[in-house]
Amino acid sequence: MTDFGKLVPAWVHTLPSYKPGKSVRQAELESGVHCIKMASNENPFGPSPLAMAAIQEALPNINYYPDSSVTELTTRLAEVHDIPPEQVMVTAGSTTFLEIIARTLLGPGLNAVTSQLSFIVYPIVTRATGAQLIEVPTLKNGFDLDRILGAVDVFTRVVYISNPNNPTGTVLDAAAMDRFLDQLPLHVLTVLDEAYWDYANYFAAERGLDYSHSLGYVRQQRPVMVLRTFSKSHGLAGVRVGYGMGPADLIGYFARMKPAFMVSSLGEAAALAALADEAHVKKGLAANSAGAKFLTKELSAMGIPVEPTWSNFLFCRVGEDAGNLCRRLQDEGIIVRHMSGSWGAPDAFRVTIGTPEQNEQFLAALKKVRSRVAV
Ligand SMILES: *Cc1c(COP(=O)(O)O)cnc(C)c1O
Repeated sequence: MTDFGKLVPAWVHTLPSYKPGKSVRQAELESGVHCIKMASNENPFGPSPLAMAAIQEALPNINYYPDSSVTELTTRLAEVHDIPPEQVMVTAGSTTFLEIIARTLLGPGLNAVTSQLSFIVYPIVTRATGAQLIEVPTLKNGFDLDRILGAVDVFTRVVYISNPNNPTGTVLDAAAMDRFLDQLPLHVLTVLDEAYWDYANYFAAERGLDYSHSLGYVRQQRPVMVLRTFSKSHGLAGVRVGYGMGPADLIGYFARMKPAFMVSSLGEAAALAALADEAHVKKGLAANSAGAKFLTKELSAMGIPVEPTWSNFLFCRVGEDAGNLCRRLQDEGIIVRHMSGSWGAPDAFRVTIGTPEQNEQFLAALKKVRSRVAV
């Protein structure tokens, strides 16, 4: 018998696997009640109706392979962002783009740098290449850019910055990123993960903040990859479409490393339609802002400290292990995300801001399980 354990590299043995938020089906089987998923930051208003129609229309052709270069969507994204198409690459969700970046630039003996309490995909894609991930302590629950600069060495190839940060919802403003990039050595690529870009942009307009100069960096061909996704505000997490924008020569290397036919024809059709449905995105953003205000106020009134959010979720510290609370919430039909394991905050949970009705149901369930604990 072959002992595969002896064949796989040491770093694969210690690799944590990605544990996704619980599916509605699994939670309902466990708890025996109808469940609402507020665990994975998806759009609570569903997909754009235009995207659903586009998928219908594309269905008769799914016997054919998709366009491996995703030409139509790439061209459209280049137009929308006013950059050359050579600076755009579309992937099966932006987490796949993270993987391609790591496989292209990292390997044993090299490292990447990020913050503690950030996105759990960064350690996975980094360590899968045999490289090391350095995680610096947080500053006010967010990125400490000076500490990141301090951790960078000659073996560093990548810095991951989630802006806003998943799971804490904190933001770095454009001036802070400008200063950071001016100081970062040129052998390091900054991955600017803007999965929640439209939410942050919406809040920034409301609150008067200069949020991001990311497209400026792309136009100047700075060593920066800006990642965006159709999984959040566009409501297409299930069909897996994301993209990155950055220096043309680097995109050329990524194109060699990407799997063929990775974006499906249905995904491309849906994304093109969702991109044109601004009304659907806007509706979600306005409801999200109202929901953030409402939930922040109500949770604070309940004595639960909430980090002010720039995104579509709230990070809540409950002061004790939050595992029990999350299980009891699930028994009341609400799935939230416990921040245990690789997330690194077992005393916290993250809740996605839902529709107004879902937010009310979440609060009612939370009040119920908390009063039961107090008795
Ligand atoms: C949701 C999310 C993504 C996007 O994931 P997809 O693979 O595009 O679905 C990327 N980065 C962060 C920080 C996220 O929270």
